[in-house]
Amino acid sequence: MEITVDQAVKMIQQSKKITFLTGAGVSTPSGVPDYRSLQGVYHGLEEPEYLLSSECLIREPEKFYQFVKHLYHEEARPNIIHQAMAEMENTKDIWVISQNIDGLHETAGSRHLVNFHGSLYDCYCRKCQQAVAWTDYLQSDTHKDCGGQIRPNIVLYGEGFEDAVIQQAITAVGNAELVVIVGTSFQVHPFCDLIYEKRRDAKVLVINQTPIPLAGEYSFVQANGTAVFEKV
Ligand SMILES: [Zn+2]
Repeated sequence: MEITVDQAVKMIQQSKKITFLTGAGVSTPSGVPDYRSLQGVYHGLEEPEYLLSSECLIREPEKFYQFVKHLYHEEARPNIIHQAMAEMENTKDIWVISQNIDGLHETAGSRHLVNFHGSLYDCYCRKCQQAVAWTDYLQSDTHKDCGGQIRPNIVLYGEGFEDAVIQQAITAVGNAELVVIVGTSFQVHPFCDLIYEKRRDAKVLVINQTPIPLAGEYSFVQANGTAVFEKV
């Protein structure tokens, strides 16, 4: 069912237990482009699916590093969507599960947060497993202490998910009386399968520029997330 921005705002205001499932559209108002839009700009015909794969990390580390460095946007700040979700934690039972790796939900102050695909701002050495500051990683992908390769703790194509992360996300979705899907085409597995973990009586609200494929009943508002969250 298609609803208005004001009706979507009301649904959020009237719910006490909300879990948000967020994607790239939540960060584009902060100036973080979807990594797919980088395709062709820096690397000709190579697909981002390869450049962000474990295969590329291992076989062509220099190419991986050059691409991943372009995903860091130090100047990006949380927008009204991130801020509203973080502030709601003060008065409601809120969880945010994000596909984004840009760290903006954390910067905004969300604590009930699952970074489903990891974070660019969490780096470690593949050889000695030590944590490394992301600022050091942007200087060099070689670990000073051991000479190993540094990588960001993000889920690459070809890699599996940690059970603990999946379990936390499943629990968060099952806890909600309202599940809000924001700024994502909702087609990436296993993220989009999380919707099947909702309570049977939980409502679903989709806030996106375009309709998404989703089984079952849900309310859909065709809008940018900022239009809704500036009123919440
Ligand atoms: Zn090391």
